[in-house]
Amino acid sequence: MPYIDQGAPVLVTGATGYVAGWIIKQLVEKGVHVHATIRDISDRDHYAHLTKIGETGPGKIEFFEADLLQPGSFAAAMEHCQLVFHTASPFRLNVKDPQTELVDPALEGTRNVLNQATEGRSVRRVILTSSIAAIAGDNADLENTDTGYFTEKNWNTTSSLTHQPYNYSKTLAEREAWKIAENQDRWRLVSINPALVIGPSLSGETGSESFRIIKSFADGSFEMGIPEYGISLVDVREVANAHCAAGYEHEAYGRYIVSAKNSNFTEVAKILKDNFGERFRFPKRVLPKFLVWLAGPLVDPTLTRKAVSRNVGLPMRVENGRSIQDLGVAYRPISDSLVEMFQQLVEAGKIRPVES
Ligand code: NAP
Repeated sequence: MPYIDQGAPVLVTGATGYVAGWIIKQLVEKGVHVHATIRDISDRDHYAHLTKIGETGPGKIEFFEADLLQPGSFAAAMEHCQLVFHTASPFRLNVKDPQTELVDPALEGTRNVLNQATEGRSVRRVILTSSIAAIAGDNADLENTDTGYFTEKNWNTTSSLTHQPYNYSKTLAEREAWKIAENQDRWRLVSINPALVIGPSLSGETGSESFRIIKSFADGSFEMGIPEYGISLVDVREVANAHCAAGYEHEAYGRYIVSAKNSNFTEVAKILKDNFGERFRFPKRVLPKFLVWLAGPLVDPTLTRKAVSRNVGLPMRVENGRSIQDLGVAYRPISDSLVEMFQQLVEAGKIRPVES
């Protein structure tokens, strides 16, 4: 497999996204010419931060309009690209129709982008932004692992349209990506499987669930108490580093879990409380599991009884060794990422202190 020519343009789908913004910034700082796809190119305010990054250089950004659900949409943007970063996919947990809001764009979008890579003649490598959601459906699945940790060998087999539908959409999309990759020999697929992404945003709040989750620690959602919900976390800048390394490192192959720390809601709440004091509506106590089971669905529709049973009080443990060894990712402490993200949300007026 030849090296990727750093002089060739690179496609990034879903350029307006939280994760994509940092990937594009790092590429432009390396001098790369980025083809960035935007859903509505006439909405210039939505990607003003990218225009600025492109003007700063040394690389540059060219914008293209493309929609995941529109066949052939990515053809023009992919012309002459050797490397494709496919990040576009909705990350929302609270949806009315999981099929049309999550599965269709994730799955059809992956088919659309990857089949285009096979049709065009220039692409040599595709980096798919998958998720640990495609590795594991619930924390309870840990009991089916050999080592007590989820690794790149594990696949989510427990999610469905009615249970953890976002995880289901990411699993279907990544499985489809590997199937398409195996049926051609022009390009290599590498998947990046991040944990919950945190840290500062280049564009303010996007539609990403990352922001809703972090805001929920201080907006009163958990004021009565917080569930002991196991999660893994990673800084958005390390997610971008991993993508760039997977793109240009000759040896990169397969799936890479990208996660700084196996943690839980209680630790996140403590870090935020320790750093921002009592000015916000932080959780006051840990809620017993049976109370979360009883009241959870009334407070948050994504906290179904099944989700509570299979995640609360159970640890989330993913193994991040491959990302360190092959991609050279150096993880910063999650407290730094959380504090920076929270501070940014406060400054933007997205999280308000309690009236004194
Ligand atoms: P985000 O900020 O909401 O970005 C999603 C991007 O996808 C946006 O650019 C959005 O465009 C685009 N998109 C959605 N539907 C589209 C459609 N029909 N056609 C074209 N573009 C469409 O979310 P994110 O957190 O950065 O997520 C980016 C990727 O990382 C996703 O694949 C997600 O599954 C994955 N991921 C995220 C996390 C996390 O914790 N954030 C963790 C693991 C994996 P608009 O701006 O026009 O809506």
